[in-house]
Amino acid sequence: MGGYGSTRWAGYVRRTSVEECRSLDVRHLKREGLLTEGQTWAGSWGWIDRNGGKATIGLQASSSWVRLSYSLRIAGGAPEQVSYKIPVIWTGPRPFFLCPAPDCGRRVEKLYLPLRGPTGRFLCRHCWGLSYESRQTWDPLVSYYRGHYEEARAVLRSGKARGRTLVAIMKAMNW
Ligand SMILES: [Zn+2]
Repeated sequence: MGGYGSTRWAGYVRRTSVEECRSLDVRHLKREGLLTEGQTWAGSWGWIDRNGGKATIGLQASSSWVRLSYSLRIAGGAPEQVSYKIPVIWTGPRPFFLCPAPDCGRRVEKLYLPLRGPTGRFLCRHCWGLSYESRQTWDPLVSYYRGHYEEARAVLRSGKARGRTLVAIMKAMNW
């Protein structure tokens, strides 16, 4: 390990490793019987964090979609209520989420919400850059967003940040 860049990157990875995300596993929902054809299940879904803290979100589910509803605070702003639908598709007996990020739509079994993440949405690991931990390069996008903090914040709040842009903004804003 050496150099300013790798130090920053290590910090980023520490904060957004998969272990520090809440995750939602479509197989788990299926096991609990929530993805039933012709029925809509409504209730809540929760996590117990390693520090013992609890979190609960509103969940509606059917065989072809899941809706998540919860309030969150983005980048120190006022709490906001979010609610969005995630498509569920099936390959034989196996359900998959379609990642709800704009222009992603990857078929995945798990979605992640980094505990300190910027958008407050559950997205796939590709969108969060969780699978890119070993890549460590200077990124002009990060530098750009560091110098344009308000713009970075606006992009986050629009919910349209994704992929490389999302990762760059997270790094620029020191998440
Ligand atoms: Zn995605």
